[in-house]
Amino acid sequence: MNTKPASLKRQISSGGVIFRRLDGAYEVVLVSVREGRYWCLPKGIIDKGETPEQTALREVREESGLTGKIIGGLGEITYWYYIKGENTKCRKTVHFFLMEYVSGSTSQHDREVDEAVWFPVEEALEKISFKGDRQILEKAASLLREMGEG
Ligand code: ATP
Repeated sequence: MNTKPASLKRQISSGGVIFRRLDGAYEVVLVSVREGRYWCLPKGIIDKGETPEQTALREVREESGLTGKIIGGLGEITYWYYIKGENTKCRKTVHFFLMEYVSGSTSQHDREVDEAVWFPVEEALEKISFKGDRQILEKAASLLREMGEG
C-alpha cells in the first residue's frame, strides 16, 4: 500500500470576545461560519509583523464589523485539524482577548462569515460550537461578572 503519512503544519491565530452592556446585562458577539453550521468567536491568522493584540482587533473588526478596545488577555487554545487537499495535519493555537465595544455594526461583517450576532452571554455559551471557544467565553463571562459587581 502506498499511503503517504500526513505532513505537519503550524498556525497561530488571534481573536476576541467583544462585549457591550445592555439594560444591565452583558452581550457578546459570535460569528457563524460554514453555512451557519458553527458558531465561533471571531479570529484569524496573525499576519507578519502583527502582534496578537493587533490581529485580534483587526479580525474582530473584519469578521464582526465592530471596533473594540482591549481590556485584557483571555489566554489561548490549541486544536488539531486535518487539511484534506494538502494531506496535512495542522496544529493551531489561537490567542484571545477581552474587548469592550467601541463602535460599528454587526451588519458590516465581511464575507468570511455568514452572520455576526450579539447574544446575551448565557445564550452565547449555549450556542458556541467548540469546547475551546466555550472555555474562553466562560473565562470572559466570569471576568464580566466581576466587573459588573465591582
Ligand atoms: P482562521 O479564522 O484562523 O483564519 P480558518 O477559518 O482557516 O482559520 P479554523 O477556523 O481554524 O480555520 O477551522 C479549521 C478547522 O478547525 C475546521 O474544520 C473547523 O471546524 C475546526 N475548528 C475551528 N475552531 C475550532 C476549535 N475552537 N476547536 C476545534 N476545532 C475547531
